[in-house]
Amino acid sequence: MFEALAQYPDHLALEGEILAWWETEGIFDRLREQNRGGPRFSFMDGPITANNPMGAHHCWGRTLKDVFQRYKALQGHELRYQNGFDCQGLWVEVGVERELGLNSKREIEEYGIAEFAERCKQRVAKYAEIITDQCRRLGMWMDWDNDYYTFSDTNIEYIWRFLRECHERDWLYLGHRAVEWCPRCGTSLSQHELINSYAELTHPSLYVRFPLKGRAGESLVVWTTTPWTLPANVAAAVNPDAEYGLTKSLEWWAVERSPDAELTRRVRGSELVGLEYEAPFEHLPAQEGVVHRVIPWDDVSLDEGTGIVHIAPGAGAEDFELSRVHDLPVLTPIDEAGRFYKDYGELEGRSTEDVEGPITVELERRGLLVEAGSIVHRYPICWRCSTPLVFRIADDWMIRADEIRQPMLDANATVEWTPDFYSKRMDDWLRNMDDWNISRRRYFGLPLPFYPCNSCGKLTVIGSLAELRERATGGLEQLQELHRPWIDEVAIRCDCGAEVRRVTEVGDAWLDAGIVPFSTLGWQSPEWKEHGYATGAAAGLTGADLPDHAYWEKWYPADWVSEMREQIRLWFYSQCFMSVTLTGKSPYRAVLTYEKLLDEHGREMHRSWGNAIDAAEALENIGADVIRFVFCEHVPSQNMKFGYGPAAEIRRRLLTYWNSVKFFVDYANVDGFRPGDEAPGELQPLDRWLFERTEQLVAEISEQYERYWTPGVMRAFDSFVDDLSNWYIRRSRRRFWNSDEVALWTLHRALLRSVQVIGPVMPFLADFLWRRLRTEDAPVSVFLEPWPEARPRDEELLREVGEVRRIVELGRQARGDAGLKLRQPLRRLVVQGAGPAQRHSDEIAEELRVKEVEFAPVEAMEVRVKPNLPLLGPKLGKELGAVRSALEAGEFEQLEGGGVRVNGHELGPDEVLVERRAREGWALAADDALTVAMTTELDDDLRREGRVYELIHRVNTMRKDAGLELTDRIRLTLPASDADLLEHADWIKEEVLATDVATDGVSEPEIAKVS
Ligand SMILES: [Zn+2]
Ligand SMILES: [Zn+2]
Repeated sequence: MFEALAQYPDHLALEGEILAWWETEGIFDRLREQNRGGPRFSFMDGPITANNPMGAHHCWGRTLKDVFQRYKALQGHELRYQNGFDCQGLWVEVGVERELGLNSKREIEEYGIAEFAERCKQRVAKYAEIITDQCRRLGMWMDWDNDYYTFSDTNIEYIWRFLRECHERDWLYLGHRAVEWCPRCGTSLSQHELINSYAELTHPSLYVRFPLKGRAGESLVVWTTTPWTLPANVAAAVNPDAEYGLTKSLEWWAVERSPDAELTRRVRGSELVGLEYEAPFEHLPAQEGVVHRVIPWDDVSLDEGTGIVHIAPGAGAEDFELSRVHDLPVLTPIDEAGRFYKDYGELEGRSTEDVEGPITVELERRGLLVEAGSIVHRYPICWRCSTPLVFRIADDWMIRADEIRQPMLDANATVEWTPDFYSKRMDDWLRNMDDWNISRRRYFGLPLPFYPCNSCGKLTVIGSLAELRERATGGLEQLQELHRPWIDEVAIRCDCGAEVRRVTEVGDAWLDAGIVPFSTLGWQSPEWKEHGYATGAAAGLTGADLPDHAYWEKWYPADWVSEMREQIRLWFYSQCFMSVTLTGKSPYRAVLTYEKLLDEHGREMHRSWGNAIDAAEALENIGADVIRFVFCEHVPSQNMKFGYGPAAEIRRRLLTYWNSVKFFVDYANVDGFRPGDEAPGELQPLDRWLFERTEQLVAEISEQYERYWTPGVMRAFDSFVDDLSNWYIRRSRRRFWNSDEVALWTLHRALLRSVQVIGPVMPFLADFLWRRLRTEDAPVSVFLEPWPEARPRDEELLREVGEVRRIVELGRQARGDAGLKLRQPLRRLVVQGAGPAQRHSDEIAEELRVKEVEFAPVEAMEVRVKPNLPLLGPKLGKELGAVRSALEAGEFEQLEGGGVRVNGHELGPDEVLVERRAREGWALAADDALTVAMTTELDDDLRREGRVYELIHRVNTMRKDAGLELTDRIRLTLPASDADLLEHADWIKEEVLATDVATDGVSEPEIAKVS
């Protein structure tokens, strides 16, 4: 007996059951054991930040990773299954700050860096555990006790080694420049952290007068949206080639920016260069000694503002560059927290936002304000804490990118991207990448191993813990792990003999993630160290080993990685940068990438907007299989709208598949059928077709998995389920009623195969069904059964039945359009364009309920042509009326290519609208190759037969509602008004399993079970 299936699948219950069963039976371990020594498939997991529970969007990537790992495993590959957690850097710090209610670096330092680091570690441990549970629930098979944590000392040491390599190549330098700065986080951000991190913000828009010295009453007018930068002004830039004019109120503007003004003088910008002016805040101590003058700058925009730009090199990137060219003083007005320094007088200690009002008032009071308003514009914000960024001069550690740029482009050329155009995106990123800003002025992150000597000027970069120990002058006894504050207590001896301390900066978190192809695989590790990766902060969280170099040789580079598109400038980039530096080649051979998850209405999901969906919530609501189905069906190059509405639709579609399995189980049990290896008799044509169709499914779906293309997988599965349910099962119903074992055998085989190939996508449902369908000698889990091999197929047969199905589909469509129910038989069907389907006229007749099928040109088609008025109106002018009437009267000739000839005019295909319709008395539908038409006229015989079909349907529904078994016989009583249907009594009896049909005084049909 096959275990019976419920009417509807309870996805949540069956997933719980399967999850527990996988666990107790150790299915995943058995799979790994089975594949040990098989061909390797190297997948490298991009670390997930252990800082929050997973959101629904994380399920997308996690699903794809699991789908392809399962597929490769089913093919016998050995895999590593190592999961990764990203553990340090600003994400975690900001999370802990919120937890503790801290809101500045000063508060963190008061709290204590050691305690803060402990809290960060606790937070990571907590969320790593939660994420692990959520991934398991999603069905993700990973080696969960063997995760890598990027804050392990081993990981950090590997980054140190990379940084020393950069230093040896002379790529490391301390950049002194204006950088985007988050005043809340108190650190600069690098280029890859800025993209897409913008908000629409309202800022002041001020036009300010700069009085010219020695030119009585004349002023330059500048425009600014950042009034806080005015106290740091040192110059005003003009476009030397542009024309400037003096207005009646003695203000200089670019002529292009003040076209309506009456000008008393006009000069080239170059003539203004060198003039000196009074800056609005030159009375501040910080401004002492600064001579303010006009400088030339070709990039001054004439699209906005006044054509004269205020320059503050300490508060703008371009301004800073100009200070080098023109030897301008650089005034840095704000500190790390974005507050004004002491020498800014009344502004001292205030934030850039706080001073906007007072500065505007002050300008007004001194008659320097020409106009004040506000502007809404896109403005960069911190991607971690959403604080608006400012520019600030900072000394940041940088890695030079120029030398590595071409080798990285070359490496990327070897990578297969899916979808393929992302390869170009990566190239674009690499071509434009700036030097890599790796320093963050923070606490819980990779400690940069830089020890600059004040005595001799040498920079020592430590490459390993062993080297640190060797060169340390003290502090080793308290070094519990390679994090602040402990690492800061260790000084080293410079080659010159001086004692040197580490810089206090920590590293960009993308260094942490980028090094994992080396740190987790044991690159250059002389020996295998058990639990050797579980060092420092990671000790006790994982049992991961540090493998030896031979292992790295085997598993590097990754065959495949998959992350969202954003990672092009993040993990794909940092990994590639580090790998090309260390080995000269790409760390991955193939990449699958995907876009963003939006809410149901297409808005970005944010916790603060209340429209984010937690993974836990989604899993509880719709279950893992449905979530996985949703993600697999979606084309990854498009943003995805995620919500519960579409999920309900997917559950409905899955029900068709469920019903097919249930159908088999029910009939097989009625007959006590046990499937053997060989068919129990000769396959009928329809069986042969399903056999071939199943082979086709295996081949198609395998091809799509090979391409890492889940939408193709889902399409192949969907169309198979449709063929299975709406063709094979429906066409074979009668054989199942008659206990036809060949049909049962064929159906069973098709179901087993389909369960198997969809297993990677819906592992729970697949194993649930497999366990019910499998024969005793088959493995207990679908994931222990080797992938079916593709064999040659009978393509002709597949094409033939495909055509039949298409004709039937068009016929149904034609009936639908004409409002004719399928239960109403019709007289005649004409099919034009059919090939091998002509051999199946009986099936077509039966499917479409027609008495005769004819394969011939369809003459029942009427072509109606209307003028495309917007185009033809202007072209034909007065003649349009005549052409229109001729078209209406059908007086036209159709031309090759879709145009028509009418009234002596030749009209192109875009100038007319062609409509194909059935003539009166016909229903019609067509596609590119086939046209199907049927007569719609009904006579008494047809009407009576239609009523019989209705009756059969109704009685069978009554049987179901009464809870009758498939084999129960009934007695059927009809109202007297149905007496004429008794002409078809035998037919009715057979269809509803009745022993007897008669009329009686009932008003509605009645059934009674025959005992
Ligand atoms: Zn921030
Ligand atoms: Zn020295």
